Amino acid sequence: MPTAAFTTLGCKVNQYETQKILESFEAQGFEIVPFESPADVYVINTCSVTQSAEAKSRQTIRRASRRNPDAIVVMTGCYAQFTLRRGERLQEAHLVVPNPEKLRTVEYLLEHFPQLKERLERERPPEGTPVKRRSRAVLKVQDGCNVFCSFCSIPYTRPVLRSIPYQEVLEEARAMAADGYREIVLTGVLIGDYGAHSGSGGPDLAGLCQILTEIEGLERIRISSIEPTLISDALIELIAEHPKMCHHLHIPLQSGDTGVLKAMNRPYDQAFYLDLCRRLRARIPDIAISTDIMVGFPDEDEGAFLNTCKVVEEVQFVRAHLFRYSPRPDTPAEAMDDHVPDTVKTERIQRLQAVAKEAAKRYTLRFIGRTERVLVETRSKLSGLMAGTSDHYLQVEFAGSPSLVGQLVQVRILDLSGEGVLGEIV
Ligand code: SF4
Repeated sequence: MPTAAFTTLGCKVNQYETQKILESFEAQGFEIVPFESPADVYVINTCSVTQSAEAKSRQTIRRASRRNPDAIVVMTGCYAQFTLRRGERLQEAHLVVPNPEKLRTVEYLLEHFPQLKERLERERPPEGTPVKRRSRAVLKVQDGCNVFCSFCSIPYTRPVLRSIPYQEVLEEARAMAADGYREIVLTGVLIGDYGAHSGSGGPDLAGLCQILTEIEGLERIRISSIEPTLISDALIELIAEHPKMCHHLHIPLQSGDTGVLKAMNRPYDQAFYLDLCRRLRARIPDIAISTDIMVGFPDEDEGAFLNTCKVVEEVQFVRAHLFRYSPRPDTPAEAMDDHVPDTVKTERIQRLQAVAKEAAKRYTLRFIGRTERVLVETRSKLSGLMAGTSDHYLQVEFAGSPSLVGQLVQVRILDLSGEGVLGEIV
Protein backbone atom coordinates (compact mmCIF):
# COMPACT_ATOMS: atom_id res chain seq x y z
CA MET A 1 0.00 0.00 0.00
CA PRO A 2 1.19 3.57 -0.50
CA THR A 3 2.49 4.91 2.80
CA ALA A 4 1.83 8.29 4.39
CA ALA A 5 3.56 9.99 7.33
CA PHE A 6 2.32 12.95 9.33
CA THR A 7 3.72 15.56 11.63
CA THR A 8 2.30 18.59 13.39
CA LEU A 9 3.81 21.87 14.49
CA GLY A 10 2.06 24.16 16.94
CA CYS A 11 -1.04 23.83 19.02
CA LYS A 12 -3.40 21.04 20.09
CA VAL A 13 -5.97 22.21 17.56
CA ASN A 14 -3.42 21.51 14.84
CA GLN A 15 -2.80 18.08 16.40
CA TYR A 16 -6.50 17.32 16.33
CA GLU A 17 -6.71 18.38 12.72
CA THR A 18 -3.70 16.23 11.79
CA GLN A 19 -5.43 13.28 13.39
CA LYS A 20 -8.53 13.94 11.26
CA ILE A 21 -6.39 14.22 8.13
CA LEU A 22 -4.60 10.99 9.05
CA GLU A 23 -7.91 9.18 9.51
CA SER A 24 -9.06 10.35 6.08
CA PHE A 25 -5.84 8.91 4.58
CA GLU A 26 -6.44 5.62 6.44
CA ALA A 27 -9.99 5.52 5.08
CA GLN A 28 -8.61 5.82 1.55
CA GLY A 29 -6.32 2.83 2.18
CA PHE A 30 -2.96 4.51 2.90
CA GLU A 31 -0.70 2.75 5.38
CA ILE A 32 0.36 5.19 8.09
CA VAL A 33 4.04 5.11 9.05
CA PRO A 34 6.10 7.16 11.54
CA PHE A 35 7.34 10.48 10.24
CA GLU A 36 10.95 9.33 10.68
CA SER A 37 10.38 6.47 8.19
CA PRO A 38 10.59 6.53 4.41
CA ALA A 39 7.08 7.26 3.08
CA ASP A 40 5.37 7.88 -0.28
CA VAL A 41 3.59 10.95 1.08
CA TYR A 42 4.59 13.32 3.88
CA VAL A 43 1.99 15.67 5.30
CA ILE A 44 3.25 18.57 7.40
CA ASN A 45 0.66 20.56 9.33
CA THR A 46 2.59 23.79 9.83
CA CYS A 47 2.43 26.63 12.33
CA SER A 48 3.21 30.33 12.10
CA VAL A 49 2.74 31.44 15.70
CA THR A 50 6.36 32.68 15.87
CA GLN A 51 9.20 33.19 13.40
CA SER A 52 10.85 30.15 14.90
CA ALA A 53 7.70 28.06 14.29
CA GLU A 54 7.83 29.15 10.65
CA ALA A 55 11.52 28.23 10.43
CA LYS A 56 10.80 24.80 11.99
CA SER A 57 7.96 24.29 9.50
CA ARG A 58 10.38 24.92 6.62
CA GLN A 59 13.06 22.67 8.14
CA THR A 60 10.55 19.85 8.62
CA ILE A 61 9.44 20.07 5.00
CA ARG A 62 13.07 19.94 3.83
CA ARG A 63 13.81 17.01 6.15
CA ALA A 64 10.89 15.04 4.72
CA SER A 65 12.02 15.74 1.20
CA ARG A 66 15.59 14.59 2.02
CA ARG A 67 14.31 11.41 3.70
CA ASN A 68 12.70 10.24 0.46
CA PRO A 69 13.46 12.45 -2.54
CA ASP A 70 10.74 10.59 -4.50
CA ALA A 71 8.05 11.31 -1.92
CA ILE A 72 5.21 13.77 -2.40
CA VAL A 73 5.52 16.45 0.27
CA VAL A 74 2.27 18.16 1.24
CA MET A 75 2.06 21.20 3.48
CA THR A 76 -0.98 22.71 5.13
CA GLY A 77 -1.70 24.73 8.30
CA CYS A 78 -1.14 28.35 9.25
CA TYR A 79 2.33 28.74 7.74
CA ALA A 80 1.14 27.15 4.48
CA GLN A 81 -1.67 29.69 4.43
CA PHE A 82 0.81 32.55 4.96
CA THR A 83 2.92 31.39 2.00
CA LEU A 84 -0.18 31.26 -0.20
CA ARG A 85 -1.15 34.77 0.91
CA ARG A 86 2.33 36.15 0.29
CA GLY A 87 2.66 34.29 -3.03
CA GLU A 88 5.77 32.47 -1.75
CA ARG A 89 6.69 29.00 -2.92
CA LEU A 90 8.73 26.44 -1.06
CA GLN A 91 10.59 24.32 -3.61
CA GLU A 92 10.38 21.09 -1.57
CA ALA A 93 6.59 21.23 -1.09
CA HIS A 94 4.78 19.60 -4.01
CA LEU A 95 1.32 20.53 -2.81
CA VAL A 96 0.09 23.35 -0.56
CA VAL A 97 -3.39 22.84 0.87
CA PRO A 98 -5.05 26.06 2.11
CA ASN A 99 -5.55 26.03 5.88
CA PRO A 100 -9.39 26.20 5.79
CA GLU A 101 -9.34 23.22 3.41
CA LYS A 102 -6.91 21.07 5.38
CA LEU A 103 -9.43 18.37 6.29
CA ARG A 104 -9.77 17.72 2.54
CA THR A 105 -6.02 17.17 2.11
CA VAL A 106 -6.41 13.61 0.83
CA GLU A 107 -8.90 14.76 -1.81
CA TYR A 108 -6.50 17.49 -2.98
CA LEU A 109 -3.69 14.93 -3.09
CA LEU A 110 -5.57 12.34 -5.14
CA GLU A 111 -6.83 15.01 -7.50
CA HIS A 112 -3.30 16.32 -8.15
CA PHE A 113 -1.61 12.92 -8.21
CA PRO A 114 -4.02 10.48 -9.95
CA GLN A 115 -1.27 7.81 -10.06
CA LEU A 116 -1.67 7.47 -6.27
CA LYS A 117 -5.39 6.87 -6.67
CA GLU A 118 -4.71 4.09 -9.20
CA ARG A 119 -2.16 2.54 -6.83
CA LEU A 120 -4.62 2.59 -3.94
CA GLU A 121 -7.21 0.80 -6.04
CA ARG A 122 -4.67 -1.82 -7.19
CA GLU A 123 -3.23 -2.52 -3.73
CA ARG A 124 -6.31 -2.31 -1.46
CA PRO A 125 -5.89 -4.76 1.50
CA PRO A 126 -8.44 -7.57 1.86
CA GLU A 127 -11.57 -6.98 3.97
CA GLY A 128 -11.11 -7.78 7.67
CA THR A 129 -7.45 -6.70 7.92
CA PRO A 130 -6.97 -5.91 11.65
CA VAL A 131 -6.79 -2.27 12.69
CA LYS A 132 -3.72 -1.09 14.66
CA ARG A 133 -4.09 -0.61 18.45
CA ARG A 134 -4.66 3.03 19.44
CA SER A 135 -4.10 4.96 22.64
CA ARG A 136 -4.92 8.67 22.84
CA ALA A 137 -7.13 10.80 20.59
CA VAL A 138 -7.50 14.56 20.41
CA LEU A 139 -11.06 15.84 20.09
CA LYS A 140 -11.74 19.44 19.11
CA VAL A 141 -14.85 20.84 20.79
CA GLN A 142 -14.51 24.59 20.30
CA ASP A 143 -13.09 27.08 17.81
CA GLY A 144 -12.44 30.82 17.74
CA CYS A 145 -11.08 33.36 20.21
CA ASN A 146 -12.08 36.89 21.20
CA VAL A 147 -9.45 37.58 23.85
CA PHE A 148 -7.15 39.61 21.55
CA CYS A 149 -3.84 39.07 23.31
CA SER A 150 -1.66 41.75 21.77
CA PHE A 151 0.89 39.26 20.38
CA CYS A 152 -1.58 36.84 18.78
CA SER A 153 -3.22 36.92 15.36
CA ILE A 154 -5.76 34.14 16.00
CA PRO A 155 -8.69 36.43 16.98
CA TYR A 156 -8.26 38.14 13.60
CA THR A 157 -8.38 34.87 11.67
CA ARG A 158 -10.86 32.94 13.88
CA PRO A 159 -12.99 35.65 15.54
CA VAL A 160 -16.23 33.66 15.75
CA LEU A 161 -16.63 31.62 18.95
CA ARG A 162 -18.18 28.28 18.14
CA SER A 163 -18.81 25.28 20.36
CA ILE A 164 -19.44 21.94 18.68
CA PRO A 165 -22.90 20.80 19.86
CA TYR A 166 -22.48 18.30 22.66
CA GLN A 167 -24.47 15.62 20.80
CA GLU A 168 -21.85 15.73 17.99
CA VAL A 169 -18.98 15.66 20.50
CA LEU A 170 -20.59 12.70 22.23
CA GLU A 171 -21.04 10.83 18.97
CA GLU A 172 -17.42 11.40 17.96
CA ALA A 173 -16.11 10.45 21.41
CA ARG A 174 -18.16 7.24 21.35
CA ALA A 175 -16.73 6.40 17.93
CA MET A 176 -13.21 7.03 19.25
CA ALA A 177 -13.80 4.75 22.24
CA ALA A 178 -15.22 2.09 19.91
CA ASP A 179 -12.08 2.49 17.76
CA GLY A 180 -9.99 1.55 20.80
CA TYR A 181 -8.89 4.95 22.12
CA ARG A 182 -8.65 4.85 25.93
CA GLU A 183 -7.96 8.56 26.44
CA ILE A 184 -9.46 11.63 24.81
CA VAL A 185 -7.80 15.03 24.99
CA LEU A 186 -10.41 17.75 24.62
CA THR A 187 -9.12 20.76 22.76
CA GLY A 188 -10.21 24.11 21.38
CA VAL A 189 -8.74 27.56 20.78
CA LEU A 190 -10.59 28.91 23.85
CA ILE A 191 -11.88 25.66 25.33
CA GLY A 192 -12.91 27.20 28.66
CA ASP A 193 -15.54 29.16 26.74
CA TYR A 194 -17.23 25.91 25.66
CA GLY A 195 -21.00 26.29 25.63
CA ALA A 196 -20.98 29.96 26.64
CA HIS A 197 -21.43 31.42 23.18
CA SER A 198 -23.07 28.51 21.39
CA GLY A 199 -26.57 29.79 22.13
CA SER A 200 -27.64 26.16 22.29
CA GLY A 201 -28.44 26.11 26.00
CA GLY A 202 -26.18 23.07 26.13
CA PRO A 203 -23.63 22.18 28.81
CA ASP A 204 -20.52 24.14 29.69
CA LEU A 205 -17.09 22.46 29.67
CA ALA A 206 -17.61 20.78 33.06
CA GLY A 207 -21.03 19.53 31.93
CA LEU A 208 -19.57 18.24 28.68
CA CYS A 209 -16.82 16.35 30.53
CA GLN A 210 -19.42 14.86 32.87
CA ILE A 211 -21.39 13.56 29.87
CA LEU A 212 -18.24 12.10 28.29
CA THR A 213 -17.25 10.27 31.47
CA GLU A 214 -20.25 8.03 30.96
CA ILE A 215 -18.90 6.57 27.69
CA GLU A 216 -18.11 2.91 28.12
CA GLY A 217 -14.55 1.95 27.18
CA LEU A 218 -13.27 5.49 27.54
CA GLU A 219 -10.99 5.51 30.58
CA ARG A 220 -9.45 8.98 30.71
CA ILE A 221 -10.37 12.52 29.77
CA ARG A 222 -7.73 15.22 29.65
CA ILE A 223 -8.30 18.89 28.98
CA SER A 224 -5.71 20.58 26.81
CA SER A 225 -4.73 24.24 27.10
CA ILE A 226 -7.29 26.27 29.11
CA GLU A 227 -7.10 29.97 29.90
CA PRO A 228 -6.69 30.71 33.65
CA THR A 229 -9.76 32.94 33.84
CA LEU A 230 -12.02 30.26 32.35
CA ILE A 231 -11.47 27.43 34.85
CA SER A 232 -14.77 27.09 36.72
CA ASP A 233 -15.30 25.72 40.22
CA ALA A 234 -17.52 23.02 38.70
CA LEU A 235 -14.63 21.88 36.49
CA ILE A 236 -12.23 21.79 39.44
CA GLU A 237 -14.78 19.71 41.41
CA LEU A 238 -15.24 17.26 38.54
CA ILE A 239 -11.47 16.80 38.12
CA ALA A 240 -11.16 16.26 41.87
CA GLU A 241 -14.01 13.76 42.11
CA HIS A 242 -14.21 11.75 38.89
CA PRO A 243 -11.68 8.95 38.40
CA LYS A 244 -11.81 9.33 34.62
CA MET A 245 -10.62 12.96 34.74
CA CYS A 246 -6.83 13.31 34.53
CA HIS A 247 -5.26 15.30 37.35
CA HIS A 248 -3.59 17.64 34.89
CA LEU A 249 -4.32 21.07 33.43
CA HIS A 250 -2.32 23.04 30.89
CA ILE A 251 -2.75 26.70 31.89
CA PRO A 252 -0.84 29.22 29.75
CA LEU A 253 1.03 31.71 31.94
CA GLN A 254 2.82 33.66 29.14
CA SER A 255 4.43 35.96 31.72
CA GLY A 256 4.62 36.07 35.51
CA ASP A 257 4.84 39.87 35.54
CA THR A 258 1.66 41.88 35.98
CA GLY A 259 2.92 44.80 33.83
CA VAL A 260 3.89 42.52 30.95
CA LEU A 261 0.59 40.63 31.23
CA LYS A 262 -1.20 43.98 30.93
CA ALA A 263 0.84 44.90 27.83
CA MET A 264 -0.01 41.46 26.44
CA ASN A 265 -3.70 42.23 27.09
CA ARG A 266 -3.99 39.02 29.11
CA PRO A 267 -7.06 39.26 31.40
CA TYR A 268 -5.32 38.39 34.72
CA ASP A 269 -2.33 39.36 36.81
CA GLN A 270 0.38 37.48 38.70
CA ALA A 271 -1.67 37.30 41.92
CA PHE A 272 -4.67 35.82 40.11
CA TYR A 273 -2.57 33.11 38.47
CA LEU A 274 -0.80 32.14 41.69
CA ASP A 275 -4.06 32.12 43.62
CA LEU A 276 -5.65 29.85 41.00
CA CYS A 277 -2.76 27.35 41.24
CA ARG A 278 -2.92 27.40 45.05
CA ARG A 279 -6.69 26.78 44.96
CA LEU A 280 -6.20 23.92 42.51
CA ARG A 281 -3.54 22.28 44.68
CA ALA A 282 -5.63 22.80 47.82
CA ARG A 283 -8.54 20.89 46.23
CA ILE A 284 -6.52 18.41 44.14
CA PRO A 285 -3.18 17.82 45.87
CA ASP A 286 -0.38 17.11 43.38
CA ILE A 287 -2.43 18.11 40.31
CA ALA A 288 0.00 18.50 37.40
CA ILE A 289 0.08 21.96 35.86
CA SER A 290 1.87 22.55 32.57
CA THR A 291 2.18 25.89 30.80
CA ASP A 292 3.39 28.09 27.95
CA ILE A 293 5.67 31.04 28.64
CA MET A 294 6.71 33.74 26.20
CA VAL A 295 10.13 35.25 26.84
CA GLY A 296 11.29 38.65 25.59
CA PHE A 297 7.98 40.41 25.09
CA PRO A 298 8.52 44.15 24.40
CA ASP A 299 9.23 45.96 27.69
CA GLU A 300 10.11 42.75 29.56
CA ASP A 301 12.99 44.07 31.70
CA GLU A 302 15.11 42.05 34.12
CA GLY A 303 12.68 42.64 37.01
CA ALA A 304 9.72 41.43 34.93
CA PHE A 305 11.69 38.38 33.83
CA LEU A 306 12.54 37.55 37.45
CA ASN A 307 8.82 37.72 38.29
CA THR A 308 8.23 34.99 35.71
CA CYS A 309 11.02 32.91 37.29
CA LYS A 310 9.33 33.38 40.66
CA VAL A 311 6.00 32.01 39.42
CA VAL A 312 7.77 29.03 37.80
CA GLU A 313 9.55 28.27 41.06
CA GLU A 314 6.37 28.46 43.09
CA VAL A 315 3.99 26.56 40.80
CA GLN A 316 6.48 23.80 39.88
CA PHE A 317 5.07 23.14 36.43
CA VAL A 318 5.37 19.53 35.36
CA ARG A 319 6.34 20.90 31.96
CA ALA A 320 6.83 24.44 30.68
CA HIS A 321 6.89 25.20 26.98
CA LEU A 322 9.15 28.24 26.65
CA PHE A 323 9.31 30.24 23.49
CA ARG A 324 10.80 33.56 22.53
CA TYR A 325 8.59 36.43 21.46
CA SER A 326 8.71 37.35 17.78
CA PRO A 327 6.39 39.95 16.27
CA ARG A 328 3.48 38.56 14.25
CA PRO A 329 2.21 40.60 11.33
CA ASP A 330 -0.88 42.72 11.97
CA THR A 331 -0.86 42.40 15.78
CA PRO A 332 -0.75 45.37 18.21
CA ALA A 333 2.52 44.09 19.72
CA GLU A 334 4.23 44.42 16.35
CA ALA A 335 4.02 48.21 16.69
CA MET A 336 5.39 48.29 20.25
CA ASP A 337 8.81 49.80 20.96
CA ASP A 338 11.60 48.49 23.17
CA HIS A 339 11.94 45.12 21.56
CA VAL A 340 14.25 42.97 23.67
CA PRO A 341 17.48 42.16 21.79
CA ASP A 342 17.78 38.56 20.53
CA THR A 343 20.88 37.91 22.63
CA VAL A 344 18.94 38.84 25.78
CA LYS A 345 16.01 36.61 24.76
CA THR A 346 18.37 33.68 24.26
CA GLU A 347 20.06 34.25 27.59
CA ARG A 348 16.71 34.54 29.42
CA ILE A 349 15.34 31.38 27.76
CA GLN A 350 18.42 29.48 28.97
CA ARG A 351 18.07 30.82 32.51
CA LEU A 352 14.34 30.10 32.61
CA GLN A 353 14.91 26.60 31.22
CA ALA A 354 17.22 25.89 34.15
CA VAL A 355 14.67 27.24 36.67
CA ALA A 356 11.81 25.29 35.03
CA LYS A 357 13.84 22.07 34.96
CA GLU A 358 14.68 22.32 38.64
CA ALA A 359 11.06 23.14 39.57
CA ALA A 360 9.72 20.23 37.46
CA LYS A 361 12.17 17.92 39.19
CA ARG A 362 10.88 19.04 42.60
CA TYR A 363 7.31 18.40 41.45
CA THR A 364 8.15 14.96 40.03
CA LEU A 365 10.14 13.72 43.02
CA ARG A 366 6.95 13.40 45.08
CA PHE A 367 5.86 10.51 42.82
CA ILE A 368 8.87 8.28 43.55
CA GLY A 369 7.59 5.12 45.21
CA ARG A 370 3.99 5.88 44.25
CA THR A 371 1.91 4.00 41.67
CA GLU A 372 0.62 5.85 38.63
CA ARG A 373 -1.90 4.79 35.97
CA VAL A 374 -0.08 4.94 32.65
CA LEU A 375 -1.50 4.79 29.15
CA VAL A 376 1.05 2.85 27.09
CA GLU A 377 1.72 4.63 23.82
CA THR A 378 4.87 3.34 22.18
CA ARG A 379 8.23 1.64 22.55
CA SER A 380 10.99 4.20 23.00
CA LYS A 381 13.46 4.08 20.12
CA LEU A 382 16.22 5.31 22.39
CA SER A 383 15.86 3.03 25.44
CA GLY A 384 13.88 0.12 23.98
CA LEU A 385 11.51 0.46 26.97
CA MET A 386 7.76 0.91 26.74
CA ALA A 387 6.67 4.52 27.16
CA GLY A 388 3.45 6.21 28.13
CA THR A 389 1.82 9.10 29.96
CA SER A 390 0.43 9.02 33.49
CA ASP A 391 -2.68 10.78 34.84
CA HIS A 392 -0.31 13.43 36.23
CA TYR A 393 1.30 13.95 32.80
CA LEU A 394 4.54 12.19 33.74
CA GLN A 395 6.36 10.58 30.83
CA VAL A 396 6.95 7.08 32.17
CA GLU A 397 9.23 4.36 30.80
CA PHE A 398 9.23 0.75 31.98
CA ALA A 399 10.09 -2.75 30.77
CA GLY A 400 7.19 -4.48 29.04
CA SER A 401 5.82 -5.95 25.86
CA PRO A 402 4.71 -3.93 22.79
CA SER A 403 1.36 -5.73 23.10
CA LEU A 404 0.63 -3.31 25.98
CA VAL A 405 0.28 -0.36 23.58
CA GLY A 406 -3.18 1.16 24.04
CA GLN A 407 -3.66 -0.31 27.52
CA LEU A 408 -3.73 1.37 30.92
CA VAL A 409 -1.29 -0.20 33.34
CA GLN A 410 -0.30 0.51 36.94
CA VAL A 411 3.36 1.48 37.18
CA ARG A 412 5.38 2.08 40.33
CA ILE A 413 7.65 5.10 39.86
CA LEU A 414 11.24 4.28 40.74
CA ASP A 415 13.45 7.12 39.62
CA LEU A 416 13.84 10.28 37.56
CA SER A 417 15.12 9.82 34.02
CA GLY A 418 15.85 12.71 31.66
CA GLU A 419 12.60 14.62 31.18
CA GLY A 420 10.49 11.79 32.64
CA VAL A 421 10.59 8.89 35.10
CA LEU A 422 11.45 5.21 35.16
CA GLY A 423 9.10 2.66 36.69
CA GLU A 424 8.03 -0.96 36.89
CA ILE A 425 4.65 -2.56 36.22
CA VAL A 426 2.90 -3.68 39.39
S1 SF4 B 1 -6.29 33.52 24.32
FE1 SF4 B 1 -4.77 34.97 23.53
S2 SF4 B 1 -3.08 33.66 22.82
FE2 SF4 B 1 -4.87 32.30 23.06
S3 SF4 B 1 -5.80 32.24 21.01
FE3 SF4 B 1 -6.84 33.87 22.17
S4 SF4 B 1 -5.71 35.75 21.63
FE4 SF4 B 1 -4.42 34.02 21.04
